[in-house]
Amino acid sequence: MVLDSMVDGSHEQVTYVSDPETGLRAIVAIHDTTLGPSLGGTRFLDYDTEADALDDVLGLSRAMTYKAAAADLPLGGGKAVILGDPDEHKTDALLGAYGRAIENLGGRYVTSVDVNTGVTDMDVVARETDHVVGTSNGLGDPSPITAHGVYHGICASAEHILGTDTPGDLEVVVQGLGKVGRALAEELVSAGAEVTVSDVDEDHVASFVDEHGVDSVAPEAVYEQSCDVFAPCAVGGVVNDDTIPQLECDIVAGSANNVLAERRHAEALRERGLFYAPDYVINAGGLMTVAEEYQGGSRKAAYEDAAAIGNRLGEMIEIAERQDTTVLDAAEEYAIRRIERAGSGDEPAVAAE
Ligand code: NAD
Repeated sequence: MVLDSMVDGSHEQVTYVSDPETGLRAIVAIHDTTLGPSLGGTRFLDYDTEADALDDVLGLSRAMTYKAAAADLPLGGGKAVILGDPDEHKTDALLGAYGRAIENLGGRYVTSVDVNTGVTDMDVVARETDHVVGTSNGLGDPSPITAHGVYHGICASAEHILGTDTPGDLEVVVQGLGKVGRALAEELVSAGAEVTVSDVDEDHVASFVDEHGVDSVAPEAVYEQSCDVFAPCAVGGVVNDDTIPQLECDIVAGSANNVLAERRHAEALRERGLFYAPDYVINAGGLMTVAEEYQGGSRKAAYEDAAAIGNRLGEMIEIAERQDTTVLDAAEEYAIRRIERAGSGDEPAVAAE
């Protein structure tokens, strides 16, 4: 059954790890290493069944391949899950055993933080292996760099769709003033854009409005707020059958992962004449930060990588226009072409700087 699933998803390697002494039970999925070592976080979750854990790790590792390829990174896609209740089972001994298992993969998989794993956990893993990023010796919180990439994605979208290269011309609604949304809203305000903010946490809204003198909109009214750009930076699934008819914007471009409730919503937006900048293309600044960390790069280099997201999105928009398709389809094609070219030796896996 596992082999069939691997063949279906084109996975290179799935490794099951068990350490009875510490209770470690984990699955590491390496989807594709054509472009470089597979990188993706470790999720610590109490899955209902082992089959659920396998499904999750196979899907997540595959998504990482496309995200890294679409970001022009010299990395493949991987992911790992540790099965169990983190409150009950997460111990330094277990994480140490997990680190040794990562080390045994010889660098084909590089891990990092994900759901229920954090910087202090990666510090423990790093005692056993170098193939880990997101430690306290790393490049720090990637969120402002993610925001910088989203900002450039918004600018590129506005240039192609609205014909303006002046961010100060834009009215942008930012949904979610967390680590990314706040940094994005600040960058937009600095550029002279007219920003309206929204968050379910009233304190987040109040502090931003006090500091920057911008307008706010209630969480339930955010979709029908008239603007050029709606930037969802809170949770996934907010672009769906209910909200698409309400949207009063020209562009949807934000950081939230899996912002479309379903893939078909990309086409639904297009049918309404709204432009959607794929989340995994414009929120790749976080991945770029850990990629720089793994390669010994700097935070400054990660900011520069994130700034290039605008040009890359522009290329994808051109592909979409040529092929009369969505930019989501074009982004996937861009990623697949890069992997195929590297696989056939037509171009180096490591993109030229
Ligand atoms: P965060 O937890 O710091 O902030 C989320 C904010 O959204 C909070 O202020 C919260 O109150 C608000 N919120 C939650 N539900 C809401 C709702 N229904 N309506 C309005 N506001 C709501 O998270 P973050 O790190 O800023 O990440 C934001 C999104 O971007 C997430 O989807 C995350 O997966 C994605 N993302 C983050 C990074 C990163 O570098 N942090 C990288 C890639 C993608």
